[in-house]
Amino acid sequence: MMIFWRAVITCLCLIGSRVDLPSTSPKENIHPVVILGSGISGQTAALNLLRGGLTPLIIEGPDAGGVLKQSPQIENWPGEKKISGWELVSKIRTQIEELGAQFLPAEVVDIDFSQRPYKVFVQNSIDAKPQVILAENCIIAMGSSPRRLHIPGEEKFWTNGVYNCALCDGGFFHQQKVAVVGGGDSAIIEADYLSNIAQEVYLIVRRDMLKGHGTARFQNLAKKPNVTVLYNTQIEKILETDGEMVGIEIQDVKNHVTRPLLVKALFEAIGHVPNTAIFQGKLPLDPEGYIRLKRGNETSLSGVFAVGDIAHPLIKQALNAASSGANAAIQILHDHGSSQTIAHLMKKDRAPSQGSSVGLLEVSNPQEMETILQETKTPVFVDFYAPWCGPCRYLMPLLEEKSSVLQGKIRIVKVNVDRQHELTEKYQIRSMPTLILFDRHGKEIAKKQGYTTIQGILQKLETMENSDDIDRYLNSLQ
Ligand code: NAP
Repeated sequence: MMIFWRAVITCLCLIGSRVDLPSTSPKENIHPVVILGSGISGQTAALNLLRGGLTPLIIEGPDAGGVLKQSPQIENWPGEKKISGWELVSKIRTQIEELGAQFLPAEVVDIDFSQRPYKVFVQNSIDAKPQVILAENCIIAMGSSPRRLHIPGEEKFWTNGVYNCALCDGGFFHQQKVAVVGGGDSAIIEADYLSNIAQEVYLIVRRDMLKGHGTARFQNLAKKPNVTVLYNTQIEKILETDGEMVGIEIQDVKNHVTRPLLVKALFEAIGHVPNTAIFQGKLPLDPEGYIRLKRGNETSLSGVFAVGDIAHPLIKQALNAASSGANAAIQILHDHGSSQTIAHLMKKDRAPSQGSSVGLLEVSNPQEMETILQETKTPVFVDFYAPWCGPCRYLMPLLEEKSSVLQGKIRIVKVNVDRQHELTEKYQIRSMPTLILFDRHGKEIAKKQGYTTIQGILQKLETMENSDDIDRYLNSLQ
Protein backbone atom coordinates (compact mmCIF):
# COMPACT_ATOMS: atom_id res chain seq x y z
CA MET A 1 0.00 0.00 0.00
CA MET A 2 2.27 2.58 0.48
CA ILE A 3 1.48 2.95 -1.36
CA PHE A 4 1.58 5.67 -3.40
CA TRP A 5 3.45 6.62 -1.02
CA ARG A 6 5.89 4.33 -2.40
CA ALA A 7 6.53 7.17 -4.70
CA VAL A 8 7.97 8.85 -1.72
CA ILE A 9 10.20 5.97 -0.88
CA THR A 10 11.50 5.98 -4.40
CA CYS A 11 12.43 9.59 -3.89
CA LEU A 12 15.63 8.15 -2.53
CA CYS A 13 16.65 8.59 -6.13
CA LEU A 14 17.20 12.22 -5.21
CA ILE A 15 20.18 11.15 -3.23
CA GLY A 16 23.18 11.55 -5.40
CA SER A 17 21.54 13.83 -7.94
CA ARG A 18 22.55 17.12 -6.49
CA VAL A 19 20.08 19.89 -7.11
CA ASP A 20 20.88 23.52 -7.65
CA LEU A 21 21.36 24.79 -4.13
CA PRO A 22 21.62 28.31 -2.84
CA SER A 23 24.61 29.38 -0.80
CA THR A 24 24.17 30.10 2.89
CA SER A 25 24.74 33.34 4.65
CA PRO A 26 27.04 33.09 7.69
CA LYS A 27 24.34 34.76 9.76
CA GLU A 28 21.95 31.88 9.23
CA ASN A 29 20.84 29.93 12.21
CA ILE A 30 23.21 27.18 13.25
CA HIS A 31 21.45 24.20 14.79
CA PRO A 32 23.27 22.54 17.68
CA VAL A 33 22.17 19.15 16.36
CA VAL A 34 20.56 18.14 13.07
CA ILE A 35 19.14 14.62 12.93
CA LEU A 36 19.04 13.20 9.42
CA GLY A 37 16.09 10.82 9.44
CA SER A 38 12.99 10.30 11.57
CA GLY A 39 12.94 6.55 12.22
CA ILE A 40 13.13 5.11 15.68
CA SER A 41 16.88 5.76 16.08
CA GLY A 42 16.56 9.41 15.05
CA GLN A 43 13.48 9.97 17.20
CA THR A 44 15.09 8.37 20.24
CA ALA A 45 18.18 10.56 19.75
CA ALA A 46 15.85 13.56 19.67
CA LEU A 47 14.08 12.44 22.83
CA ASN A 48 17.32 12.23 24.77
CA LEU A 49 18.66 15.51 23.39
CA LEU A 50 15.46 17.32 24.29
CA ARG A 51 15.51 15.93 27.80
CA GLY A 52 19.14 16.95 28.09
CA GLY A 53 18.62 20.54 27.05
CA LEU A 54 19.23 20.62 23.29
CA THR A 55 16.55 21.07 20.67
CA PRO A 56 17.50 19.22 17.51
CA LEU A 57 16.13 19.77 14.03
CA ILE A 58 14.84 16.48 12.61
CA ILE A 59 14.86 16.14 8.85
CA GLU A 60 12.09 13.67 8.24
CA GLY A 61 13.41 12.07 5.08
CA PRO A 62 11.37 10.41 2.34
CA ASP A 63 9.83 7.83 4.65
CA ALA A 64 8.78 9.62 7.84
CA GLY A 65 8.86 7.17 10.74
CA GLY A 66 11.26 4.83 8.94
CA VAL A 67 10.96 1.16 8.03
CA LEU A 68 9.86 0.12 11.51
CA LYS A 69 6.38 1.40 10.82
CA GLN A 70 5.99 -1.41 8.28
CA SER A 71 6.31 -3.98 11.04
CA PRO A 72 2.88 -5.42 11.90
CA GLN A 73 3.95 -6.65 15.31
CA ILE A 74 6.86 -6.08 17.66
CA GLU A 75 7.07 -8.40 20.63
CA ASN A 76 10.38 -7.49 22.23
CA TRP A 77 9.88 -3.83 23.12
CA PRO A 78 10.10 -3.51 26.91
CA GLY A 79 6.76 -2.81 28.51
CA GLU A 80 4.74 -3.67 25.39
CA LYS A 81 3.58 -7.26 24.95
CA LYS A 82 2.66 -6.57 21.35
CA ILE A 83 2.80 -3.30 19.50
CA SER A 84 2.84 -2.43 15.81
CA GLY A 85 5.79 -0.52 14.43
CA TRP A 86 3.47 2.27 13.36
CA GLU A 87 2.04 2.64 16.87
CA LEU A 88 5.47 2.62 18.46
CA VAL A 89 7.00 5.32 16.24
CA SER A 90 3.81 7.38 16.51
CA LYS A 91 3.97 7.25 20.31
CA ILE A 92 7.58 8.39 20.33
CA ARG A 93 6.80 11.15 17.85
CA THR A 94 3.99 12.45 20.04
CA GLN A 95 6.31 12.31 23.05
CA ILE A 96 9.04 14.35 21.38
CA GLU A 97 6.62 16.80 19.79
CA GLU A 98 5.36 17.54 23.28
CA LEU A 99 8.94 18.31 24.28
CA GLY A 100 9.22 20.76 21.39
CA ALA A 101 10.95 18.70 18.67
CA GLN A 102 11.20 20.48 15.35
CA PHE A 103 10.51 18.37 12.25
CA LEU A 104 11.37 19.47 8.72
CA PRO A 105 9.56 17.61 5.93
CA ALA A 106 12.53 17.33 3.62
CA GLU A 107 15.04 14.92 2.15
CA VAL A 108 18.77 15.18 2.54
CA VAL A 109 20.32 15.40 -0.94
CA ASP A 110 23.93 16.28 -0.13
CA ILE A 111 26.24 17.11 2.73
CA ASP A 112 29.40 19.12 3.23
CA PHE A 113 31.57 17.92 6.10
CA SER A 114 34.59 20.03 5.08
CA GLN A 115 34.22 22.42 8.02
CA ARG A 116 32.04 23.11 11.03
CA PRO A 117 29.24 24.04 11.07
CA TYR A 118 28.46 21.23 8.66
CA LYS A 119 26.20 22.00 5.71
CA VAL A 120 23.21 19.75 5.13
CA PHE A 121 21.58 20.27 1.73
CA VAL A 122 17.92 19.33 1.68
CA GLN A 123 14.98 19.43 -0.66
CA ASN A 124 11.62 20.26 0.86
CA SER A 125 9.18 17.36 0.47
CA ILE A 126 6.21 19.63 -0.05
CA ASP A 127 7.33 22.32 -2.47
CA ALA A 128 10.62 20.72 -3.64
CA LYS A 129 12.52 23.89 -2.70
CA PRO A 130 16.21 23.43 -1.86
CA GLN A 131 17.55 24.64 1.46
CA VAL A 132 20.87 24.58 3.28
CA ILE A 133 20.93 23.80 7.00
CA LEU A 134 23.90 24.50 9.22
CA ALA A 135 24.66 21.94 11.90
CA GLU A 136 27.18 21.97 14.72
CA ASN A 137 26.56 18.22 15.14
CA CYS A 138 24.91 15.72 12.81
CA ILE A 139 23.25 12.45 13.72
CA ILE A 140 22.85 10.34 10.61
CA ALA A 141 19.77 8.15 11.06
CA MET A 142 18.85 7.55 7.44
CA GLY A 143 18.39 3.80 7.78
CA SER A 144 18.32 1.39 4.91
CA SER A 145 16.13 0.75 1.90
CA PRO A 146 14.49 -2.50 0.90
CA ARG A 147 16.57 -4.59 -1.49
CA ARG A 148 14.84 -5.23 -4.81
CA LEU A 149 14.73 -8.35 -6.99
CA HIS A 150 15.50 -6.54 -10.26
CA ILE A 151 13.48 -8.90 -12.41
CA PRO A 152 11.48 -8.08 -15.56
CA GLY A 153 8.14 -6.49 -14.72
CA GLU A 154 9.10 -5.52 -11.16
CA GLU A 155 9.48 -1.85 -11.95
CA LYS A 156 6.33 -1.71 -14.08
CA PHE A 157 4.15 -3.24 -11.36
CA TRP A 158 5.84 -1.61 -8.39
CA THR A 159 3.05 -0.47 -6.04
CA ASN A 160 0.55 -2.02 -8.42
CA GLY A 161 1.07 -5.69 -7.68
CA VAL A 162 4.66 -5.72 -6.42
CA TYR A 163 5.28 -4.33 -2.94
CA ASN A 164 7.61 -4.51 0.02
CA CYS A 165 5.21 -3.86 2.88
CA ALA A 166 2.45 -6.33 3.70
CA LEU A 167 1.13 -4.15 6.50
CA CYS A 168 0.82 -1.25 4.09
CA ASP A 169 -0.52 -2.99 1.01
CA GLY A 170 -1.72 -6.42 2.11
CA GLY A 171 -5.21 -5.08 2.77
CA PHE A 172 -5.74 -4.73 -0.96
CA PHE A 173 -5.63 -8.52 -1.37
CA HIS A 174 -8.40 -9.89 0.80
CA GLN A 175 -9.15 -13.50 -0.11
CA GLN A 176 -6.75 -13.46 -3.03
CA LYS A 177 -3.58 -15.41 -3.78
CA VAL A 178 -0.32 -13.67 -2.98
CA ALA A 179 3.38 -14.52 -2.77
CA VAL A 180 6.16 -13.41 -0.45
CA VAL A 181 9.81 -13.77 -1.40
CA GLY A 182 12.65 -13.97 1.12
CA GLY A 183 14.15 -16.29 3.66
CA GLY A 184 14.71 -14.11 6.74
CA ASP A 185 12.61 -12.91 9.66
CA SER A 186 10.93 -10.23 7.58
CA ALA A 187 9.64 -12.76 5.06
CA ILE A 188 8.19 -14.91 7.85
CA ILE A 189 6.48 -11.90 9.41
CA GLU A 190 5.11 -10.63 6.12
CA ALA A 191 3.81 -14.08 5.15
CA ASP A 192 2.22 -14.52 8.57
CA TYR A 193 0.49 -11.16 8.35
CA LEU A 194 -0.80 -11.89 4.86
CA SER A 195 -2.02 -15.36 5.86
CA ASN A 196 -4.69 -13.64 7.95
CA ILE A 197 -5.93 -11.67 4.96
CA ALA A 198 -5.25 -13.57 1.76
CA GLN A 199 -6.80 -16.79 0.52
CA GLU A 200 -3.42 -18.38 -0.19
CA VAL A 201 0.13 -17.31 0.61
CA TYR A 202 3.19 -18.74 -1.17
CA LEU A 203 6.49 -18.11 0.60
CA ILE A 204 9.26 -18.33 -1.97
CA VAL A 205 12.69 -19.18 -0.60
CA ARG A 206 15.75 -19.47 -2.82
CA ARG A 207 17.57 -21.90 -0.54
CA ASP A 208 16.46 -25.22 0.95
CA MET A 209 15.87 -23.61 4.32
CA LEU A 210 14.83 -20.31 5.86
CA LYS A 211 17.17 -18.42 8.16
CA GLY A 212 14.56 -18.60 10.91
CA HIS A 213 13.61 -22.22 10.21
CA GLY A 214 13.69 -23.35 13.82
CA THR A 215 11.82 -20.40 15.32
CA ALA A 216 8.38 -20.78 16.85
CA ARG A 217 7.26 -18.00 14.56
CA PHE A 218 8.11 -20.06 11.48
CA GLN A 219 6.75 -23.30 12.91
CA ASN A 220 3.41 -21.59 13.51
CA LEU A 221 3.40 -20.15 10.03
CA ALA A 222 4.23 -23.45 8.36
CA LYS A 223 1.23 -25.08 10.09
CA LYS A 224 -1.27 -22.66 8.56
CA PRO A 225 -3.43 -24.36 5.91
CA ASN A 226 -3.29 -21.44 3.51
CA VAL A 227 0.51 -21.12 3.55
CA THR A 228 2.79 -23.01 1.15
CA VAL A 229 6.56 -22.70 1.39
CA LEU A 230 8.34 -23.20 -1.94
CA TYR A 231 12.03 -23.92 -1.30
CA ASN A 232 14.84 -23.82 -3.85
CA THR A 233 12.74 -21.47 -5.88
CA GLN A 234 13.53 -18.18 -7.49
CA ILE A 235 11.36 -15.70 -9.29
CA GLU A 236 12.19 -15.09 -12.94
CA LYS A 237 9.69 -12.42 -13.92
CA ILE A 238 6.29 -10.87 -13.33
CA LEU A 239 3.58 -12.25 -15.62
CA GLU A 240 1.05 -9.91 -17.16
CA THR A 241 -1.97 -10.01 -19.41
CA ASP A 242 -3.36 -6.87 -21.01
CA GLY A 243 -1.24 -4.68 -18.76
CA GLU A 244 -2.45 -6.37 -15.55
CA MET A 245 -0.21 -8.41 -13.29
CA VAL A 246 -1.53 -11.99 -13.31
CA GLY A 247 1.26 -13.85 -11.53
CA ILE A 248 4.94 -14.64 -11.39
CA GLU A 249 7.18 -17.08 -13.21
CA ILE A 250 9.12 -19.23 -10.80
CA GLN A 251 12.02 -21.57 -11.37
CA ASP A 252 13.11 -24.61 -9.41
CA VAL A 253 16.82 -23.85 -8.98
CA LYS A 254 17.70 -27.56 -8.84
CA ASN A 255 16.22 -28.71 -12.15
CA HIS A 256 15.74 -25.28 -13.77
CA VAL A 257 12.11 -26.05 -14.57
CA THR A 258 10.00 -22.91 -14.74
CA ARG A 259 6.28 -22.58 -14.19
CA PRO A 260 3.74 -19.84 -13.68
CA LEU A 261 2.34 -19.13 -10.23
CA LEU A 262 -0.89 -17.19 -10.46
CA VAL A 263 -0.86 -14.62 -7.69
CA LYS A 264 -2.33 -11.15 -7.54
CA ALA A 265 0.57 -9.68 -5.63
CA LEU A 266 4.19 -10.25 -4.76
CA PHE A 267 5.68 -8.94 -1.51
CA GLU A 268 9.45 -8.66 -1.45
CA ALA A 269 11.17 -9.19 1.91
CA ILE A 270 14.76 -9.82 0.86
CA GLY A 271 16.72 -7.59 3.19
CA HIS A 272 17.90 -4.01 3.04
CA VAL A 273 20.78 -1.88 1.78
CA PRO A 274 22.08 1.11 3.78
CA ASN A 275 21.20 4.59 2.49
CA THR A 276 24.76 5.81 2.34
CA ALA A 277 25.12 6.93 -1.30
CA ILE A 278 25.65 10.58 -0.34
CA PHE A 279 28.35 9.67 2.19
CA GLN A 280 30.61 7.91 -0.31
CA GLY A 281 34.00 9.56 -0.13
CA LYS A 282 32.90 11.67 2.84
CA LEU A 283 32.78 9.09 5.61
CA PRO A 284 34.46 5.70 5.94
CA LEU A 285 32.06 2.94 4.88
CA ASP A 286 32.46 -0.82 5.19
CA PRO A 287 32.41 -3.04 2.06
CA GLU A 288 28.62 -3.37 2.27
CA GLY A 289 28.16 0.38 2.49
CA TYR A 290 27.43 0.72 6.22
CA ILE A 291 28.98 3.70 8.04
CA ARG A 292 31.97 2.76 10.16
CA LEU A 293 31.96 4.04 13.74
CA LYS A 294 34.97 5.15 15.75
CA ARG A 295 34.02 6.28 19.25
CA GLY A 296 30.71 4.85 20.43
CA ASN A 297 28.29 6.09 17.79
CA GLU A 298 30.60 8.80 16.52
CA THR A 299 32.20 8.44 13.11
CA SER A 300 35.76 9.43 12.32
CA LEU A 301 34.51 13.02 11.96
CA SER A 302 34.08 14.96 15.16
CA GLY A 303 30.42 15.75 15.83
CA VAL A 304 29.13 13.37 13.15
CA PHE A 305 27.27 10.36 14.53
CA ALA A 306 25.57 7.43 12.83
CA VAL A 307 22.73 5.47 14.42
CA GLY A 308 20.28 2.71 13.56
CA ASP A 309 20.40 0.48 10.49
CA ILE A 310 22.78 2.75 8.55
CA ALA A 311 25.62 1.83 10.89
CA HIS A 312 24.61 -1.56 12.21
CA PRO A 313 24.64 -4.32 9.61
CA LEU A 314 24.13 -7.24 11.97
CA ILE A 315 21.47 -6.53 14.56
CA LYS A 316 18.52 -4.76 13.05
CA GLN A 317 16.10 -4.54 15.92
CA ALA A 318 14.02 -1.59 17.07
CA LEU A 319 15.67 -1.78 20.47
CA ASN A 320 19.18 -1.58 19.06
CA ALA A 321 18.28 1.27 16.77
CA ALA A 322 16.73 3.18 19.65
CA SER A 323 19.65 2.55 21.96
CA SER A 324 22.16 3.72 19.35
CA GLY A 325 20.15 6.93 18.98
CA ALA A 326 20.20 7.42 22.72
CA ASN A 327 23.96 6.75 22.81
CA ALA A 328 24.67 9.40 20.19
CA ALA A 329 22.52 11.93 22.04
CA ILE A 330 24.29 11.22 25.31
CA GLN A 331 27.69 11.57 23.64
CA ILE A 332 26.66 14.95 22.22
CA LEU A 333 25.22 16.14 25.52
CA HIS A 334 28.35 15.03 27.28
CA ASP A 335 30.56 16.85 24.78
CA HIS A 336 28.29 19.86 24.87
CA GLY A 337 28.45 19.97 28.65
CA SER A 338 24.76 20.62 28.81
CA SER A 339 23.40 20.87 32.32
CA GLN A 340 19.96 22.16 31.58
CA THR A 341 17.08 20.35 33.13
CA ILE A 342 13.91 19.20 31.51
CA ALA A 343 12.05 22.10 33.07
CA HIS A 344 13.93 24.52 30.86
CA LEU A 345 12.92 22.65 27.79
CA MET A 346 9.21 22.75 28.10
CA LYS A 347 8.53 25.44 25.58
CA LYS A 348 5.30 27.27 25.85
CA ASP A 349 5.02 27.88 22.14
CA ARG A 350 5.30 24.34 20.95
CA ALA A 351 5.16 23.58 17.28
CA PRO A 352 1.74 22.32 16.28
CA SER A 353 1.71 18.65 15.50
CA GLN A 354 1.22 17.91 11.83
CA GLY A 355 -1.16 15.45 10.45
CA SER A 356 -4.23 15.76 12.58
CA SER A 357 -7.17 16.21 10.32
CA VAL A 358 -10.33 17.68 11.68
CA GLY A 359 -11.97 19.50 8.83
CA LEU A 360 -13.02 16.88 6.28
CA LEU A 361 -15.92 14.49 6.56
CA GLU A 362 -14.66 10.94 7.02
CA VAL A 363 -16.74 8.52 4.98
CA SER A 364 -17.75 5.76 7.37
CA ASN A 365 -19.22 3.15 5.00
CA PRO A 366 -19.90 2.48 1.30
CA GLN A 367 -23.56 3.54 1.63
CA GLU A 368 -22.53 6.95 2.91
CA MET A 369 -20.24 7.34 -0.07
CA GLU A 370 -23.11 6.41 -2.42
CA THR A 371 -25.36 8.98 -0.77
CA ILE A 372 -22.74 11.71 -1.02
CA LEU A 373 -22.26 11.02 -4.72
CA GLN A 374 -25.99 10.77 -5.43
CA GLU A 375 -27.00 13.90 -3.56
CA THR A 376 -24.12 16.18 -4.45
CA LYS A 377 -24.72 19.34 -6.41
CA THR A 378 -21.00 20.02 -6.80
CA PRO A 379 -18.06 17.87 -7.91
CA VAL A 380 -16.72 15.68 -5.09
CA PHE A 381 -13.05 14.98 -4.36
CA VAL A 382 -12.38 11.87 -2.26
CA ASP A 383 -9.02 11.58 -0.52
CA PHE A 384 -7.99 7.95 0.11
CA TYR A 385 -5.47 8.08 2.95
CA ALA A 386 -4.05 6.06 5.82
CA PRO A 387 -3.15 7.43 9.25
CA TRP A 388 0.39 6.05 9.04
CA CYS A 389 1.11 7.40 5.57
CA GLY A 390 3.60 10.27 5.67
CA PRO A 391 2.62 11.99 2.40
CA CYS A 392 -1.05 11.77 3.45
CA ARG A 393 -0.19 13.84 6.52
CA TYR A 394 1.17 16.60 4.32
CA LEU A 395 -1.71 16.54 1.89
CA MET A 396 -4.45 16.60 4.55
CA PRO A 397 -3.92 20.21 5.75
CA LEU A 398 -3.97 21.42 2.14
CA LEU A 399 -7.26 19.59 1.51
CA GLU A 400 -8.74 20.94 4.70
CA GLU A 401 -7.78 24.50 3.83
CA LYS A 402 -9.00 24.25 0.24
CA SER A 403 -12.19 22.52 1.34
CA SER A 404 -13.18 25.70 3.07
CA VAL A 405 -11.80 28.06 0.38
CA LEU A 406 -13.63 26.11 -2.35
CA GLN A 407 -16.85 25.64 -0.40
CA GLY A 408 -19.80 25.69 -2.81
CA LYS A 409 -17.56 24.89 -5.79
CA ILE A 410 -16.42 21.40 -4.81
CA ARG A 411 -16.77 19.11 -1.82
CA ILE A 412 -13.82 17.21 -0.34
CA VAL A 413 -14.24 14.11 1.84
CA LYS A 414 -11.78 11.48 3.01
CA VAL A 415 -11.67 7.68 3.19
CA ASN A 416 -9.37 5.77 5.56
CA VAL A 417 -8.14 2.80 3.51
CA ASP A 418 -7.32 0.85 6.66
CA ARG A 419 -11.00 0.89 7.61
CA GLN A 420 -12.83 1.00 4.29
CA HIS A 421 -11.63 -2.11 2.47
CA GLU A 422 -14.74 -2.32 0.31
CA LEU A 423 -14.36 1.22 -0.98
CA THR A 424 -10.63 0.80 -1.42
CA GLU A 425 -11.22 -2.30 -3.52
CA LYS A 426 -14.14 -0.80 -5.43
CA TYR A 427 -12.08 2.22 -6.49
CA GLN A 428 -8.94 0.14 -7.08
CA ILE A 429 -6.74 2.21 -4.79
CA ARG A 430 -3.22 0.92 -5.15
CA SER A 431 -1.20 3.73 -3.65
CA MET A 432 -1.72 6.63 -1.29
CA PRO A 433 -2.71 9.35 -1.06
CA THR A 434 -4.98 9.03 -4.07
CA LEU A 435 -7.56 11.71 -4.77
CA ILE A 436 -10.52 10.62 -6.88
CA LEU A 437 -12.41 13.36 -8.65
CA PHE A 438 -16.14 12.84 -9.24
CA ASP A 439 -18.27 15.18 -11.32
CA ARG A 440 -21.45 16.79 -10.01
CA HIS A 441 -23.42 13.70 -11.14
CA GLY A 442 -21.25 11.39 -9.05
CA LYS A 443 -19.35 9.99 -12.04
CA GLU A 444 -15.67 9.27 -11.57
CA ILE A 445 -13.56 11.63 -13.68
CA ALA A 446 -9.97 10.95 -12.71
CA LYS A 447 -7.54 9.67 -10.09
CA LYS A 448 -4.79 12.06 -9.04
CA GLN A 449 -1.70 11.60 -6.92
CA GLY A 450 1.15 13.79 -5.77
CA TYR A 451 1.04 16.91 -3.63
CA THR A 452 2.03 19.29 -6.42
CA THR A 453 -0.51 17.90 -8.92
CA ILE A 454 -3.36 18.10 -6.43
CA GLN A 455 -2.31 21.54 -5.22
CA GLY A 456 -2.24 22.73 -8.85
CA ILE A 457 -5.80 21.49 -9.47
CA LEU A 458 -7.15 23.12 -6.32
CA GLN A 459 -5.40 26.41 -7.05
CA LYS A 460 -6.80 26.45 -10.57
CA LEU A 461 -10.30 25.88 -9.20
CA GLU A 462 -9.88 28.90 -6.93
CA THR A 463 -9.64 31.10 -10.04
CA MET A 464 -12.95 29.80 -11.44
CA GLU A 465 -16.38 31.09 -10.56
CA ASN A 466 -18.61 29.65 -13.24
CA SER A 467 -19.76 26.03 -12.77
CA ASP A 468 -19.49 25.33 -16.53
CA ASP A 469 -15.84 26.41 -16.43
CA ILE A 470 -15.25 24.16 -13.43
CA ASP A 471 -16.88 21.18 -15.16
CA ARG A 472 -14.94 21.78 -18.36
CA TYR A 473 -11.68 22.02 -16.45
CA LEU A 474 -12.33 18.88 -14.41
CA ASN A 475 -13.32 16.92 -17.52
CA SER A 476 -10.06 18.00 -19.14
CA LEU A 477 -8.23 16.17 -16.33
CA GLN A 478 -9.49 12.74 -17.42
P1 NAP B 1 17.77 -10.77 5.99
O1 NAP B 1 17.89 -11.46 7.30
O2 NAP B 1 18.98 -10.13 5.41
O3 NAP B 1 17.23 -11.87 4.99
C1 NAP B 1 17.07 -11.59 3.63
C2 NAP B 1 16.58 -12.85 2.97
O4 NAP B 1 16.27 -12.54 1.63
C3 NAP B 1 17.63 -13.96 2.96
O5 NAP B 1 17.01 -15.18 3.27
C4 NAP B 1 18.12 -13.95 1.53
O6 NAP B 1 18.43 -15.22 1.05
C5 NAP B 1 16.90 -13.49 0.78
N1 NAP B 1 17.28 -12.84 -0.46
C6 NAP B 1 18.17 -11.84 -0.66
N2 NAP B 1 18.21 -11.50 -1.96
C7 NAP B 1 17.33 -12.33 -2.58
C8 NAP B 1 16.93 -12.47 -3.93
N3 NAP B 1 17.42 -11.71 -4.91
N4 NAP B 1 16.02 -13.42 -4.22
C9 NAP B 1 15.49 -14.20 -3.26
N5 NAP B 1 15.83 -14.12 -1.96
C10 NAP B 1 16.74 -13.18 -1.63
O7 NAP B 1 16.67 -9.65 5.97
P2 NAP B 1 15.40 -9.45 6.91
O8 NAP B 1 14.57 -10.64 6.96
O9 NAP B 1 14.80 -8.18 6.43
O10 NAP B 1 16.03 -9.22 8.36
C11 NAP B 1 17.04 -8.20 8.55
C12 NAP B 1 17.45 -8.21 10.02
O11 NAP B 1 16.36 -7.73 10.81
C13 NAP B 1 17.80 -9.58 10.56
O12 NAP B 1 18.83 -9.42 11.49
C14 NAP B 1 16.54 -10.01 11.24
O13 NAP B 1 16.76 -10.93 12.28
C15 NAP B 1 16.01 -8.70 11.78
N6 NAP B 1 14.57 -8.72 11.91
C16 NAP B 1 14.05 -9.07 13.12
C17 NAP B 1 12.69 -9.10 13.29
C18 NAP B 1 12.11 -9.47 14.63
O14 NAP B 1 10.93 -9.28 14.84
N7 NAP B 1 12.89 -9.97 15.53
C19 NAP B 1 11.83 -8.81 12.24
C20 NAP B 1 12.38 -8.49 11.00
C21 NAP B 1 13.75 -8.45 10.85
P3 NAP B 1 19.72 -16.02 1.49
O15 NAP B 1 19.37 -16.58 2.83
O16 NAP B 1 19.85 -17.04 0.43
O17 NAP B 1 20.84 -15.03 1.51
